[in-house]
Order: sequence, then structure tokens, then C-alpha cells
Amino acid sequence: MNQTSVAARNQILATVQEFVQREVVPRASKHDRDDTYPHELVEQMKELGLFGITVPEEYGGLGLDYTTFAMVFEELAKGWMSITGVIGTHSILTYVVARFGSEEQKREWLPSLAQGERRGALAMTEANAGSDVAALETTAVRDGDEYVVNGAKLFITNGRYSDVVLLMAKTNPDAQPPHSGISALIVEKGPGFTVGPDMEKLGYRGIDTCELIFQDCRVPAKNLVGYEEGRGFRQVMEGLETGRINIAARGVGVATAAFEHAIRYAQQRKTFGQPIANHQAVQLMLADMATKIRAARLLVYDAAAKKDRGERCDQEAGMAKLYASEMCAEVTLDAMRIHGGYGYIKDLPLERYYRDAPLMIIGEGTNEIQKIVIARSLLRQYAI
Ligand SMILES: Cc1cc2nc3c(=O)[nH]c(=O)nc-3n(C[C@H](O)[C@H](O)[C@H](O)COP(=O)(O)OP(=O)(O)OC[C@H]3O[C@@H](n4cnc5c(N)ncnc54)[C@H](O)[C@@H]3O)c2cc1C
Repeated sequence: MNQTSVAARNQILATVQEFVQREVVPRASKHDRDDTYPHELVEQMKELGLFGITVPEEYGGLGLDYTTFAMVFEELAKGWMSITGVIGTHSILTYVVARFGSEEQKREWLPSLAQGERRGALAMTEANAGSDVAALETTAVRDGDEYVVNGAKLFITNGRYSDVVLLMAKTNPDAQPPHSGISALIVEKGPGFTVGPDMEKLGYRGIDTCELIFQDCRVPAKNLVGYEEGRGFRQVMEGLETGRINIAARGVGVATAAFEHAIRYAQQRKTFGQPIANHQAVQLMLADMATKIRAARLLVYDAAAKKDRGERCDQEAGMAKLYASEMCAEVTLDAMRIHGGYGYIKDLPLERYYRDAPLMIIGEGTNEIQKIVIARSLLRQYAI
């Protein structure tokens, strides 16, 4: 059981809130518009220790719990959702190494990852394997003390600026069921590992999302997580629980930012001789928005608390991700409605919030897949 003290939690949250207000908010719209990578913000995030939020202190991290992790993601996303992407899949990598890696692997990888000296990505999706992860075609063939990797990954966040990726590849392509042939390898950039062009996106801009190509890329066999083949699917699926908590927290953060703009604007903007906040139709919208945000936040805390108790939380994390992401899309649209024409104009961040919201619906497993995960878990729970 990992539980952060109230004092430690408040301290990191105050630090992150100040960083967001002082550094992130003033730069977000320009980075978004120009689709430029926020190198200067990333350097500051390293100094704040955000690359190792949950990495145990003995391996150089902050050792905070997943409830605090979720709160940090919410605060960052209130400023600019893209900035959370830099530490999102990076944190899945650190989780998998800390949870399933050998002591030697933890000592080798975690300290530099926690400090952001090495930055990580998750290389799972392929052109023909998104929701159906087990259909992936990238192979890792053992050759003496190395694996030889061939294949290509698509949509990889942090693909360009990461130093190391957690790669899912088939060490046994003939295995049945297919997911039992998947292994997780820690792969550093080097010969045989090429980064393709950045993919241009609707939202979540400024952050690199690329294709990664592996051509006879040689990876030391000691980089197989836990030194055991065929465990990669289970290892990464458990890591994705933390990914879904972070995606849900992002949804809460973006929706909160949109709501706070809307409730301020509603008290300033006048129509028919009075602030639009006096019109009950607008009040009803504000009440619905705030209620949905609160419900989503509580789902996030519920999933994070279960993770902090050391339990699997696929059902709770799936529910939080499903609800918070759909809520975020609804609330950002309502915030735009409340702003009328100004909401649609790029001078205000409302249209950015609206463009960023769908990533949370698709990423880390689409919401249709979340429903399948939730239903399977419920059927296990209520099996007769
Ligand atoms: C900006 C961005 C960043 C990303 N970052 C990463 C990353 O860092 N690392 C990584 O590995 N991946 C990443 N992804 C990939 C992402 O996880 C996948 O796009 C997502 O899992 C969906 O896979 P797909 O695109 O292949 O869609 P598909 O799997 O082809 O799905 C298409 C549609 O069919 C539905 N569907 C599929 N199967 C079922 C089913 N059984 N039942 C009901 N509906 C179904 C889906 O819900 C969806 O609506 C990223 C994607 C984006 C857009």
C-alpha cells in the first residue's frame, strides 16, 4: 500500500499549480498554433521531478501515490493537455519496469528515467493492430545475447524525443492464444531504429506522435522485462491501468479549465440587459457541467485509490477513462456554447480545449474497448 502524506501531496500540487500558471498557460496557445515542441517546459518538468512522480524514492523518483499522480495530471491538463503527454507513456514505462523488472533492470533504468535524463515512450500500436493488440506483427527473434527486432509502430507519442521505448513485440508469433507470444523489451534509440515523420493532429498539438521503424534492430536480451518471454501483454495491460487513470485525469483537467472560463464569462457577458448567468438556461448548463466534472474526478480518485492499495483496477480505471473523456468532450462543447461566437475564435483557449478532448476518447484504448474491459470485469465479478 502506497499512500502519500497530505503535506507532501499539497506541496507538489502547489508547485505544479504555480508552474502551470507561470510557465504553461502563457505559452500553450502559441505552441498549439505553431505545433512546436515545448522543450523549455520539458526542462522545467525535469527539475520538478515530474518524470519520476511514482518511481520509488530508492530509485531516484518522488515515490508519490497514484492519487497524487492523478491530481498532478489534472493540474497540468488545466494549463495545456499536451504537456501531460510528455510524462504519460513515460510513466507507463517506469511502472512496468518498477513492477515487473529485475532488480538489475530497475537499477539500470529507473534513476535516469525518474530524472528525465532518459525519456520514455510506449510502442504498442501498429498499422494493423490498435484495439486488437494481440494482432501485432513486430517480431523480436533471439540471436545469442540479443533480440533482432523487425516491424513498425504507429501513433507513438514521444516517439521523436524519447531515448527509450517500451516495445511490444512477438517473441513467439505462432503462440496460441496470440497474446501469449508477446514480450516487452526496453529498446534504446540506435542502429536499426528509425523515427518517421510526425503525424499532424487535430489537437494534442506540440507533442510528437510518430511512426517508429525497426529494421534488424539489435536489442540486448537483458532488456527483456523480467527476463521472461510471453509476459509482455499482461505487463503492459497492467501498466495501462495507470495510463487510463492519467487520461481520465487529463479529461477532468481540460473540462475544469473550460468550465472555469465559462462561469466567469457568463457573469460578464450581457444579453437582453443582464449577465447571461442570470438566464436559467445558462445556469442549467453550468450546473450540469460542474456535476459531471465532479463525478468524473471522483471516479478517477476511486481508481487511483485502488491502485494505491496495490490492487488491479482495470474496471475502475476503465470506468474513469470512459466517463471522464466523454464528459470532457461534452463540457468543452458546452463551454464553447456559453461563449457564443467568441468560443469559436482562436483568441480564447476554448476551441483548443474542444480539439484536445477527443484524444482522451481514443487514446489508451478507445471507449468502446473500455466498455468491453468493464463488461468482462463485471461478468467475472457477478459470475453465477
Ligand atoms: C494522438 C494519438 C497518440 C497515441 N499515442 C500512442 C502511443 O504513445 N503508443 C501507442 O502504442 N499507441 C498510441 N496511440 C494509438 C491508440 O492507442 C490507438 O489509436 C487506439 O488504441 C485505437 O486503435 P486504432 O487506431 O487502430 O483503431 P481500431 O482498433 O482500428 O478501431 C477503430 C474503431 O473500431 C472500434 N472497435 C475496434 N474493435 C472493436 C470491438 N472489438 N468492439 C467494438 N468496437 C471496436 C474502435 O473502438 C474504434 O471506434 C495514439 C493514438 C493517437 C490518436
